[in-house]
Amino acid sequence: MNIVLLGAPGAGKGTQAQKLVEDFGFAHISTGDLLRAAVKAGTKLGVKAKSYMDEGKLVPDRLVVDLVTERLADDDTQKGFILDGFPRNTAQAVTLDSALSEMGRNLDAALLVDVKAEVIVKRLSSRRTCRDCGYTAPAGVDKCPACGGEMYQRDDDKPETIQKRLDVYENQTSPLVEYYRGKGLLKVVDGDRLVDDVYKDVKELLAL
Ligand code: AMP
Repeated sequence: MNIVLLGAPGAGKGTQAQKLVEDFGFAHISTGDLLRAAVKAGTKLGVKAKSYMDEGKLVPDRLVVDLVTERLADDDTQKGFILDGFPRNTAQAVTLDSALSEMGRNLDAALLVDVKAEVIVKRLSSRRTCRDCGYTAPAGVDKCPACGGEMYQRDDDKPETIQKRLDVYENQTSPLVEYYRGKGLLKVVDGDRLVDDVYKDVKELLAL
């Protein structure tokens, strides 16, 4: 099954993706994680992407699209993939459609994890992320429950950047909800609930 996850930053896309990966073995493709790894490794891409990310802006499409298309060529995506944080605008969605059709593949669903903006601001400002594996948890957890790595606050989870990221989501990413509704692929889950309750509905919506 090939899935696109939609939803504002902090809606819980990554958490639901992790659960789907554990249970069904899909490949998890998070452009945010791939970009943060490139920044950490100091690659050319990482150096170019960093300033956009720190400001809460989208990294230019040409930098992100190659990252995704290269990842989609990996064997582990054949049993299904979850795109998390991509596409982020209509141009990326159109590029994804043509890249998939060139590969003879298609999307099965676009799942919107729906959470109101007020809840998102609270969640993001208390979110901590594992430096090593990207696992997220609320503030107060010092060691990653998944791998023991150090938990830190992402620069773009600081209050001054959160509002910018939400504006970017509203203006550039939320139109994708209609894009995928028009293709008959949209499924919506209420993400403002306990993780396991959200996940139960996710599985039902995806008929898993
Ligand atoms: P995320 O972890 O998905 O919240 O992404 C963190 C940051 O990485 C975003 O605020 C953007 O700067 C950048 N980013 C992630 N995915 C994309 C994308 N598909 N297109 C452009 N920029 C992206």
